[in-house]
Amino acid sequence: MVDDIYKNIKEIKKEALADNIPIMQDETIDFITDYIEKKKVRTILEIGTAVGYSAIMMAASNPLVNVVSIEKDKDRYIKALKNIKKANFEDRITLIFNDALDVKLDEKFDLIIIDAAKSKNLDFFSHFEKNLEVNGSFITDNINFHGYVDKDLSEISSKNIRGLVKKIRNYVEFLQNNVKYKTKFYDLGDGISVTERRI
Ligand code: SAM
Repeated sequence: MVDDIYKNIKEIKKEALADNIPIMQDETIDFITDYIEKKKVRTILEIGTAVGYSAIMMAASNPLVNVVSIEKDKDRYIKALKNIKKANFEDRITLIFNDALDVKLDEKFDLIIIDAAKSKNLDFFSHFEKNLEVNGSFITDNINFHGYVDKDLSEISSKNIRGLVKKIRNYVEFLQNNVKYKTKFYDLGDGISVTERRI
């Protein structure tokens, strides 16, 4: 049974990579599934489903975990629905097809994963902060943005990438200066931040 799930996940991952769909790196998803175990996370909101790879990995890590995941790209959302059905997680993964900033939820979550448009990390954080449980945390992926965030802006020729880097740096600064939360940064995968509420 467990072997079947991971065989399925391997296929989903292989297909996503072949189709150039951006999915979490192994180190990142391994860190998150360890975190889920360590902190006894039961409810997760994910912003940025793509084709469902990380949502399925999180659901597979523990039978008590439930995931709500939001995706705004229709083709990816449809593919994610198929992948979740194939992995038999329709009862524990709920997908929402919409721009996350237009989604209003009442429930609270133990963990909120931000893995969507990198320029909007701060908007997603502010929009969903009210949905975080008292002991909850945010994990944000791609904080290093392929090494660009550590570079001098003058070394980056693309104006778009410079703009993105500035926004990611603003987000990092916001997290570092936010007295309501304690954030740790991990140099694994493409860089992640783990932001826990100070109680
Ligand atoms: N978490 C996925 C995984 O590891 O399997 C990868 C997510 S991928 C890096 C980012 C996804 O976020 C893309 O599929 C993109 O369409 C989606 N996205 C970007 N901005 C969004 C928004 N405002 N609302 C919802 N989804 C968004």
